[in-house]
Amino acid sequence: QAKQAGRNGMRFFDRQMQERISARARLEGDLRQAIERQQFELHYQVQVDELGMARAAEGLLRWRREDGSLVSPSEFIGLAEETGLILPIGHWVLETACAQLQAWQADEQMEPLILSVNVSAPQFRQPDFCDEVLRLVKHYGILPCRLKLELTEGLLLEMVEETIVSMRRLRDVGVRFALDDFGTGYSSLQYLKRLPLNQLKIDQSFVRDLVSDASDQAIVQTIIAMAASLQLDVIAEGVEYEAQRDKLEEMGCLRYQGYLFSRPVPEAQLRAWVHAAHAIRQQHCLA
Ligand code: C2E
Ligand code: MG
Ligand code: MG
Ligand code: MG
Repeated sequence: QAKQAGRNGMRFFDRQMQERISARARLEGDLRQAIERQQFELHYQVQVDELGMARAAEGLLRWRREDGSLVSPSEFIGLAEETGLILPIGHWVLETACAQLQAWQADEQMEPLILSVNVSAPQFRQPDFCDEVLRLVKHYGILPCRLKLELTEGLLLEMVEETIVSMRRLRDVGVRFALDDFGTGYSSLQYLKRLPLNQLKIDQSFVRDLVSDASDQAIVQTIIAMAASLQLDVIAEGVEYEAQRDKLEEMGCLRYQGYLFSRPVPEAQLRAWVHAAHAIRQQHCLA
């Protein structure tokens, strides 16, 4: 009987494995098709200062399937990285961001905004990555300092020297860098001080229970102190409630991103948000 169960268990396991493998193959095929058919969209989430004014936006990738549904990047970025498909996708994101920055130059309220994009490790490690960025900046006639690249700590575990050289090349012309999901990796101060970064992004996992959890408070306080000692900006992601925002401000973090302000939205909606915030502020000033 045990043997029987074992066999059934095995069969069940095989079937699960099979299903997982074919789901993966299907996703990979769909992803290739999505690239050919240009089914990607960049949505934008505002980043605000302590006065609630827009200072920047983060571009977040979405895949619009044939049936109109939106697929979140967490469902396909991993596979795209493993298969190398992140290279054409990442190029599309960079080019779209640069074209967007160019378009914002014609709008007084949008023009000062910084646009931040996520860059995967395999993408950043391409030998021609810097040239690609420099070419796009030139082609679209944008100020390099309006473009920010978000890297994760994972990138920094390998090829440290090469990474620093590439970052320096881009920093020298004004391109900015943020370290995303900060606090979830293994960066030491020793190591961080060598990177030409502009900003640390406090991971949303520390923000979630910040108001009630003393150890999250201690971690966030440490990150803010690290940023200060390295002379870096610090921004908190995943800010959903006023109480989180207020706690962050009290702790010395003056930049926020999260649903409290806006979800990631299509560009027209971001623009409407920025214009509305500006109009409200003008009213306050006149009153
Ligand atoms: P990330 O760069 O850390 O982006 C923040 C994620 O948190 C986004 O998820 C955003 O929608 C979500 N978020 C923002 N505010 C809140 C909030 O208040 N509460 C909660 N619960 N979540 C919030 P999204 O858009 O699903 O992206 C997930 C991840 O996928 C990103 O994390 C980034 O690592 C990756 N990603 C997104 N776009 C790109 C891209 O163009 N290229 C690459 N390589 N990766 C990307
Ligand atoms: Mg990011
Ligand atoms: Mg993040
Ligand atoms: Mg993340």
